[in-house]
Amino acid sequence: MVRFTVLASGSKGNSTVVTGGRTRILVDAGLSCRELFKRMRLAEEDPETLDAIVITHEHSDHVSGLAVTARKLGIPVYFTEGTHRAWMRWLTPRRQMTYAQWLEQCRKQAAERQAELDSEAHEGELDELEAEADFPAVEVEAVSTPVNSARGDDDETDKPPSRKQDPTWLPSVECFEPGRPFEIGDISLSPFTIPHDAADPVGFVFRAEGIRMGFATDLGYIPPNVKAQLKGVDLLLLESNHDLEMLRDGPYPWSVKQRVLSRVGHLSNESAAEYLENEYDGEAAYVILAHLSESNNLPELARVAAERALSGRASLLANRLLLAAQHEPLGAIYF
Ligand SMILES: [Zn+2]
Ligand SMILES: [Zn+2]
Repeated sequence: MVRFTVLASGSKGNSTVVTGGRTRILVDAGLSCRELFKRMRLAEEDPETLDAIVITHEHSDHVSGLAVTARKLGIPVYFTEGTHRAWMRWLTPRRQMTYAQWLEQCRKQAAERQAELDSEAHEGELDELEAEADFPAVEVEAVSTPVNSARGDDDETDKPPSRKQDPTWLPSVECFEPGRPFEIGDISLSPFTIPHDAADPVGFVFRAEGIRMGFATDLGYIPPNVKAQLKGVDLLLLESNHDLEMLRDGPYPWSVKQRVLSRVGHLSNESAAEYLENEYDGEAAYVILAHLSESNNLPELARVAAERALSGRASLLANRLLLAAQHEPLGAIYF
């Protein structure tokens, strides 16, 4: 079964559940853990069955509930290295260990683990272990080492540090690179770079059971690599952030308006519509408009712009238009 459930979308928090086969992943954790769980239950998704969390970028509307949720569920978090680094900096701006030192420590510990296993491993297995050791971020557990040692010898060493001791501690961290597809259980993920003012932001195409789902929010414009990725998707979730006129006349200070409008800001209704009219291949069963601004947009404006853009599409079965909302989940979409 393939299912796509937007739990929240907008500048106050973003989170979506993608289910494929037996695998369930949370894309971004931009609401508090409590709110995320509440919304999952509302949408008939069971939080306990999540297998992993995947992060698009480190802005707080995408990560604010991340650490608590990952800790509570004990599941791995997938980031690009740049995003993980930025997220750690955000949480601990004056941490004593640099990211490079942390990576070095991870490598050392991986090498030690490998040395222990070496004597028992067969040759074929050794190759795999070496490949693992080369992987940049093995397990974030390493970060907690200084904290653990400071707690004294009597403490249980396998107990995770408290959030106060180390707010960046996660049960497990996995790194991926934009442009390099990877898999989590039954779901394939193709991460691609998007133009946005974050460290290493990505969009995704998720694929499960032959169904492809494109996911692109938080992008200033749609560059050729994103257009190429979004070809032939069965579901397209696309940002439709602001109405240009509302933004220009709206309450934001000039500098913020400039940021939103820039090439690394957010996609306007007008830009989304232009893409849907002229470049999009019209093949998706569902088009979901997402990350709508509450200050500089109205759902009706976004809808009308997209409807107009899609009106030339011949197929009646395709391009069902939906709007993702900030304050309530969008009903699950099944394939
Ligand atoms: Zn955002
Ligand atoms: Zn963002």
